Amino acid sequence: MSDLLLQGKVCLVTGASRGIGAAIARAAAAAGAVVVINYRSSRHLAESLAEELRDLGHEAGTVQADVGSPADVERLFTTIEHEWGPVSLLVNNAGVSLRELVTHTSDEQWDQVINTNLKGPFLCCRRALPHMIRSRWGRIINIASVWGMRGASCESVYAASKGGLILFTKSLAQEVGPSGITVNALAPGPIGTDMLAGELTAQERQDLAADIPLGRLGCPEDVAKMAVFLLSEGGNYINGQVIPVDGGWTA
Ligand code: NAP
Repeated sequence: MSDLLLQGKVCLVTGASRGIGAAIARAAAAAGAVVVINYRSSRHLAESLAEELRDLGHEAGTVQADVGSPADVERLFTTIEHEWGPVSLLVNNAGVSLRELVTHTSDEQWDQVINTNLKGPFLCCRRALPHMIRSRWGRIINIASVWGMRGASCESVYAASKGGLILFTKSLAQEVGPSGITVNALAPGPIGTDMLAGELTAQERQDLAADIPLGRLGCPEDVAKMAVFLLSEGGNYINGQVIPVDGGWTA
């Protein structure tokens, strides 16, 4: 499966300093991609991941950028093109969560969630697409969430950002499919990362795991394996889909 299927292709994974993004970066590198690890503030984590990948013989580098900022996204892509070449594999993974009553949510919190989770993928797709369209090939994966499919109490803003990302994915897939580009979303269920640890207590995580048919929370590698499948030839005819990676939670 990971037999250099992505050989030489430049793969940008946003928010790859830790969690799901870091696992996708590792899996894409193992499949032969030149991996660009984007991060917002965890420079040390991002650089040690790049070093880990280079020690394994892969090509990898880091670029700091806030995906919600148009100026940062422009600098991100210009840097990548200068250092490694144009992006043909884009994984919009960077995200922030918010567990809050709507009545307690500030304008700033709304802006941060929507700018990171929804505007960020829009900005990155808009910047990546002209090259993909010119070369009539590209792969885009947006990391959505089961919360964007079913919603959840005290997660309205987060769910709105992910629900918006799902319809952005389906619409863009129809728009750029004729140019040979696939656009899909993965909708993870609860995955054991910093994000989940920051949202739920240990007891809540245990209760959630008991509610999942496979009897456990997901791990970042569960999502990464599906991402590499979609980026590689296995994903050639899969377009505009929202694929839950949730142990059967939403079945
Ligand atoms: P995480 O452990 O909190 O990591 C988030 C990553 O996003 C970090 O690398 C962080 O960079 C980066 N990031 C945040 N804001 C950014 C910005 N404005 N610009 C660039 N990078 C930014 O989260 P995770 O659990 O791995 O989640 C990854 C994705 O999966 C998110 O989109 C999340 O919504 C989605 N998801 C997660 C779960 C779950 O249960 N964990 C379930 C469904 C969907 P820094 O380290 O520099 O801050």
